[in-house]
Amino acid sequence: MSPRPRPYGCPAETGAPRGPLAPDLTRSTTFAYATAEELRAVGEGEAPGEFYPRYGHPNARQFESRIAALEGADGAVSFASGMAAISAIFCALLGKGDVLAVSQYVYGGVEAVVAEDLPRFGIEVRRFDPFEPGSLERALAGGARHVHVETPTNPLCRVVDLERVIAAAHAAGARVSVDATFLPPPFQRPLAHGVDLVVHSATKILGGHSDAHAGVVSGRHALLERLEAFRRRTGAMLAPDTAWLLTRSLATLELRTRAAAENAGRLARFLDGVRARGGAVAQVHYPGLARHPDHEIAARTLGSFGYMLAFEVRGGLDAAVAVYERLRVIARAVSLGGAESLASLPLHTSHAMVPPEERARRGIADGLVRLSGGIEPYEALEADLAQALAA
Ligand code: PLP
Repeated sequence: MSPRPRPYGCPAETGAPRGPLAPDLTRSTTFAYATAEELRAVGEGEAPGEFYPRYGHPNARQFESRIAALEGADGAVSFASGMAAISAIFCALLGKGDVLAVSQYVYGGVEAVVAEDLPRFGIEVRRFDPFEPGSLERALAGGARHVHVETPTNPLCRVVDLERVIAAAHAAGARVSVDATFLPPPFQRPLAHGVDLVVHSATKILGGHSDAHAGVVSGRHALLERLEAFRRRTGAMLAPDTAWLLTRSLATLELRTRAAAENAGRLARFLDGVRARGGAVAQVHYPGLARHPDHEIAARTLGSFGYMLAFEVRGGLDAAVAVYERLRVIARAVSLGGAESLASLPLHTSHAMVPPEERARRGIADGLVRLSGGIEPYEALEADLAQALAA
């Protein structure tokens, strides 16, 4: 009997490609077989073959197998959104009485799930500050099942020392998941540092063209099997068309990320020059700048300083809104990681729900503008920021 096929993608055998180089798109929601026995065996996972797309389908597995290869994972499980992927990690792997230690620097949607939903199922949530010595250790005191961090963080691009987090978590018997949405492989590969699961909102730079909504988790089979079973039960499956688009996008992931990070780095240096001359910029947050608090760890552990940056406009929110509304090339939009550069005001978007005193504690100024570097010609972006800041 052939080995039981896995319902999610694993790194493919290498070798020169054969057959169509662009994958076929399989939209079918059911598959016909010649005999009752064949259909039974496929359904039971005893024979290879397609059964029902919520149990996995060819386009999702193609995307998953490429992600798994990029991450250096046993396999990957994809979901209909980044939030579906992250909530699957928590809901499939934690239960009543378990403790989840979660970084204070996570995407607002993650904060909402851990505040609103997990406690209803008896999961205790403890927050910690990954940049404050002793904070994680305090959250782990008395035991914890799971630690979740995001790095680089939104919007100040702080870079978490993963090896320190992993050492403390594993010593306490806790697993670690990392939301690496802000910096994809091959530039950041948290599994190589020893984390247990890495998750991305594939809606961002993995998709890269602002036209696909998805999430993906990579790691070891023992955990992925539980995530896939949860996906199958709860149904947050990635659609075939979206999976096809994502597989298409992965061919240019490294090129796009390099180009966007090159633009982001040059913009950060340009903006820092405006700051140094006493112009309209009060502060620039980009790990590629020597002034950034995590420059050293970023240089040591990441293959790129990334495509995200943020800067503070002198004069607070009103001044930042005026600069923002003068942009003519950079789009005023939420999200990140597309081919086009995007700007957002965290105070109006990602951090609108964070109380002012907490924003101040985290160093998020009222006049902060977040930029997602795109892959346009650099000169057009610098000229756009220069005219927006000049008035
Ligand atoms: N993680 C991070 C860091 C994000 O920025 C986002 C969305 O902006 C998510 C997760 C959630 O992703 P999605 O919108 O695909 O559900």
